[in-house]
Amino acid sequence: MKFQPTKEGYYGQFGGAFIPELLYPNVKELEDNYLDILESEAFQKEYKDLLQHYVGRPSPLYLAKRLSEKYGATIYLKREDLNHTGAHKVNNTIGQILVAKHLGKTKIIAETGAGQHGVATATVCALMDLECVVFMGETDIKRQAPNVARMKMLGAKVVPATSGSKTLKDATNEAIRYWIQNPETYYLIGSVVGPHPYPDMVARLQAVISEEMKAQLKMQTGKENPDTIVACVGGGSNAAGAFYHYLEDEDVELIAVEAAGLGVNSGESAATSQLGEVGVIHGSKTILMQDEYGQIVEPYSISAGLDYPGVGPLHAYLHETKRAKFMNATDKEALNAAYELTKIEGIIPALESAHALAVLPKMDLKKDQVVVINLSGRGDKDLETYINHLEE
Ligand SMILES: *Cc1c(COP(=O)(O)O)cnc(C)c1O
Repeated sequence: MKFQPTKEGYYGQFGGAFIPELLYPNVKELEDNYLDILESEAFQKEYKDLLQHYVGRPSPLYLAKRLSEKYGATIYLKREDLNHTGAHKVNNTIGQILVAKHLGKTKIIAETGAGQHGVATATVCALMDLECVVFMGETDIKRQAPNVARMKMLGAKVVPATSGSKTLKDATNEAIRYWIQNPETYYLIGSVVGPHPYPDMVARLQAVISEEMKAQLKMQTGKENPDTIVACVGGGSNAAGAFYHYLEDEDVELIAVEAAGLGVNSGESAATSQLGEVGVIHGSKTILMQDEYGQIVEPYSISAGLDYPGVGPLHAYLHETKRAKFMNATDKEALNAAYELTKIEGIIPALESAHALAVLPKMDLKKDQVVVINLSGRGDKDLETYINHLEE
């Protein structure tokens, strides 16, 4: 079980829990209880029930015939875009809201960059009648008005982070500050990042993606294992979920796609594995984009969900051990891949997911090669960007 974390949350040298002493009791409480909760019959029953009847799982595994023809391979799309709220993020928020309830918490806090995780969190708080406070950078609040409106309509309080660059990392700082002052709250993290046990817990909750993939591939191709799985990586949760049950099956090629923005070396990029160095971010040792003083370098991507300056510790380890191959796609390549999928399959993907599609032309594909692309979300939220660039 090479790719499972140690008891202290380490994947090789990456992971752990680098937290202020005042947060220790909160994180310890979660660490002591999360596995028992996740494995309990009561949790499993409620989690599976909500995934089926509320989220709409299992999400289809769709053989994309015209895409396959175009690239000369057998390409399946795992349709996370069809989930309630439009992406994979809800798999995690449904799970964690149940964990919070099992721990007896009544108030949820979260941070959000683009607002997608904020919406997924506000959704499950409405569902469970729990108070919800979402921290968001002031700049992001202006840039992501529709998601702010959604969160408010769902009953969440959106608190602006006004320090620093007024973006995600500042919202994270505010959330942690609030958590220290209000230890009775539950901090709901949106990706496989943060101090142990969050990366492992979120990976386990997203693992439903590859659990379904195994059964669906078996039924549709006769074999549980594809040749290749491709997923985009911001923090890394949809990729962790799509890879999870295949991590130890080394015959399955895993491809993680990062956002190159205007180009890996343009200074406007989010390709962490190419540009990052070992450091601590968000309570975890991993690779992150930093300057010579160890300060976080502001990432850039056209897709708001991928412009995170780090990757989760599992992905840092997958990169270091070469278990996963890290590729990247620029803004332009992702846009073109999105227009292409829309035209030939009638599916408008999220800009994040379009990065995964965008590496198809760069792969050396064979006709009978079974490739699964994790289509992490739908493109409704990106329509304005798509329309603006279409007119260029
Ligand atoms: C948030 C988001 C991502 C990136 O987050 P991961 O944790 O890396 O999965 C990817 N796709 C969509 C649609 C998202 O909303």
